[in-house]
Amino acid sequence: MEEVFTGTFTQQEPIPEAGIAAAVAVMRHGRLHRYNTTPGEVPEVAALEEEFAASVGAAYCLAVASGGYALATALRACGVGPGDRVLTNAFTLAPVPGAIASLGAQPVFVGVTEGLVIDLDDLAAKAGQADVLLLSHMRGHICDMDRLVALCEAHGLTLIEDCAHTMGAHWRGRPTGCWGRMGCFSTQTYKHMNSGEGGLLISDDAEAMARAILLSGSYMLFDRHRAAPPPEAFAQLKYDTPNVSGRMDNLRAAILRPQLADLDRQCARWNALNAAVDAGLAEAPGLTRIDRVEAEGFVASSYQFLLLDWPGDAIDAVLARCARRGVELKWFGAAEPQGFTSRYDSWHYAPATPMPETDRVLRGLIDMRLPLTFTPEDCAQIARIIRAEVGAVWQAGVAAQ
Ligand SMILES: *Cc1c(COP(=O)(O)O)cnc(C)c1O
Repeated sequence: MEEVFTGTFTQQEPIPEAGIAAAVAVMRHGRLHRYNTTPGEVPEVAALEEEFAASVGAAYCLAVASGGYALATALRACGVGPGDRVLTNAFTLAPVPGAIASLGAQPVFVGVTEGLVIDLDDLAAKAGQADVLLLSHMRGHICDMDRLVALCEAHGLTLIEDCAHTMGAHWRGRPTGCWGRMGCFSTQTYKHMNSGEGGLLISDDAEAMARAILLSGSYMLFDRHRAAPPPEAFAQLKYDTPNVSGRMDNLRAAILRPQLADLDRQCARWNALNAAVDAGLAEAPGLTRIDRVEAEGFVASSYQFLLLDWPGDAIDAVLARCARRGVELKWFGAAEPQGFTSRYDSWHYAPATPMPETDRVLRGLIDMRLPLTFTPEDCAQIARIIRAEVGAVWQAGVAAQ
């Protein structure tokens, strides 16, 4: 009999009991605002910032209202303003070009390789067009960070990292987010820690972080931060930096701290799910898996593969056949943006020059979530279904075309 998968691709695990208890304590005392503290109290938000900074080895950390807010704040703190051009990935999600556009700046898209990382040759060719690169580690695929940083240095590019998909990940042992001037993380429900909405910003740069803290809406209470630069760093900036309110509150921080303490274990679980899918798709005809290199310490909370050069109707058929058997796949090549999959050419506010190599990759790119409510056995079953359905469509004619 034909197997059907019955799990739900959008079901998260519950918040850990310790997080629920901490959240209830915050609700009982009522001081949800991060700056509403009693003498000597360390509020949840300041504690989270301190713990997150320590976990990645950053000097400073700021917790904010969302990942997208973290991106826009980082850009602004690094001096991006209206009319500026900012290099960023053509393969990313809408909040990334959106953060650039929110400042009145303009994204300049850089292509993607078949390995699903930023095309460093295209970056080198376009480096002269901007002063800042907002690098998105999209779907957890990490490019050669040594080469990327050398390129940024050679061209005088300020690097900001979007680590929405790489919390807990590293390149050669050094966490993502620590390679440029600022690193941005999201704690939105579909990411590696879940507070509904939320973001974290890290930096070793005192001036940029002081600016970010003031931007986030610290009023003159920045001395209540712990993972923050010393008061001198704010002395002049506090007169010059607008308040663009976007703080995190103690309730969200309370549920995040136990998740942070457990992050390494969760990352290992995600990678076990990823490994189960990947093993099940080995040597599957017609399908291209993504190669990963030793230096890439990835955390795979989703899985991608390519149906390179397949006609669109055949890809549609694979998606429909898998869906019928309970396996929810998303396609970055669909004509119209759907769900979370939009493409650089769907963002009409940001003019883009066609990139044929990038288009070829995106036209074949299939994406699947792997929530931690799945088991490795679930993932093996999902792989069997994908393998069978891709194989059936492949044999029915794609191979012959
Ligand atoms: C989710 C996401 C963001 C933004 O995070 P939010 O917390 O949802 O604002 C940024 N970049 C990428 C690649 C994302 O997937």
